Amino acid sequence: MDFSTVELTPEQSRFVQEVRNALDEIVTPEVHDHERSTGDGFHEGVHLALGRRGWLFPSWSVEEGGAGLDPVRLRILALELERYRVPHVTLSTTALVWQAVARFAAPDLVAEIRPLVATGAVRLCLGYSDPEGGSDIAASHLRAAREGETWVLNGAKMFTTGAHNCQYTFLITRTDPDAPKHKGLTMFLVPLDLPGVEVQAIRTYGGERTNAVYYTDVQVSDRFRLGEVNAGWAVLRGPLDAEHGAGRVNDGLSDVCQGRVFLREFERALDATVEWARRSERPGGLPVAEDPAFMDRLGRQIVELEAAVVTPGPMGRIKGSLTLIEGVAELMDLVGPEALLTHGAEGALAGGELDFAHRWAQGTATYGGTIEVFKNIVAQHVLGLPRADFPGSKVLVR
Ligand SMILES: Cc1cc2nc3c(=O)[nH]c(=O)nc-3n(C[C@H](O)[C@H](O)[C@H](O)COP(=O)(O)OP(=O)(O)OC[C@H]3O[C@@H](n4cnc5c(N)ncnc54)[C@H](O)[C@@H]3O)c2cc1C
Repeated sequence: MDFSTVELTPEQSRFVQEVRNALDEIVTPEVHDHERSTGDGFHEGVHLALGRRGWLFPSWSVEEGGAGLDPVRLRILALELERYRVPHVTLSTTALVWQAVARFAAPDLVAEIRPLVATGAVRLCLGYSDPEGGSDIAASHLRAAREGETWVLNGAKMFTTGAHNCQYTFLITRTDPDAPKHKGLTMFLVPLDLPGVEVQAIRTYGGERTNAVYYTDVQVSDRFRLGEVNAGWAVLRGPLDAEHGAGRVNDGLSDVCQGRVFLREFERALDATVEWARRSERPGGLPVAEDPAFMDRLGRQIVELEAAVVTPGPMGRIKGSLTLIEGVAELMDLVGPEALLTHGAEGALAGGELDFAHRWAQGTATYGGTIEVFKNIVAQHVLGLPRADFPGSKVLVR
């Protein structure tokens, strides 16, 4: 492994400055206040401003609405967006869904939507999880019944994050209830402004906003079908595998760890703890930063962070989440009651960083597939173990 510092060319350094200048203007304190109060993972003004620079699909050519960035500049942009804490959930779901739309939608629909996702006027969200259970995606119940050139949708989806800020949902439906579960599914790109679609807010313990979406006799044109009827599993696989981390290239530019985004939050929590230790004293006057017991426990967390950062594949998704969850709990114990003060409270540590990190950490074990599901992926696809078959499991037919 090459640990040497990356030397940027003068042109690349100028690009870093260009991005920072732009983000200084775009990512105002109001953007972060908005994110804290809504938990949306999205800010329309920021999204449209990024779109104007071609930075929503930055690898696309300028003519296509992108910025034609090469891999190094793509990496620079991604790192700066993270550093500025740009709300990114809807940005990410739009990019995930787009690859399936580009491949499976009718050409006229692709041509219509493509420029709009590039400017940011159209956003896409993920309609996978059922109220009955989200891990077993292929067991989806939401019914789509054909009536000529129209499909009638009835049912519900849980946790459709960003639905209230998106124009379409990438919806998994059951079109043949009698077929084996993977073979009776069809995917649609459903416009969220159709009559019969109802979006209801759900707020999580971590402060995120997600949604329950109800579909009552929703009539959607066959034009919005993606791929063949009852072949939805093949359409879904691309975005799902990408979300699970398959196909990641080891180009020396990408993060090794799939849970890296979680670890950035842990880094901020560690920084807040170090800042607290520098200005705090034990009752006898010993600076906390010189207390060997404190340093030992803090050091262990830094080692855990470093180990997580270099954990590859699906193991990195698990390690990233657990390092954050367990590590922030340890930091809160080290700091004590001050760590519980939330943003805006008098004396809150680094703007309530530890309180936020602790709450936000919990959801990381669930969305995009739970830790347990990822353990199954590691068992089967990394270790080559047979598929688990627990008593009472949902696999009824072999
Ligand atoms: C903040 C947030 C945002 C989300 N955003 C979206 C979104 O945008 N779109 C979307 O479609 N979904 C979204 N989800 C849903 C998420 O993908 C599901 O919550 C997740 O897949 C788990 O599904 P479930 O909550 O229904 O739990 P279940 O699937 O009912 O699982 C319950 C428990 O059983 C365990 N379990 C289930 N199956 C197995 C198995 N085979 N082996 C071992 N253990 C198992 C699970 O780990 C879990 O502990 C979001 C969830 C959250 C919390």
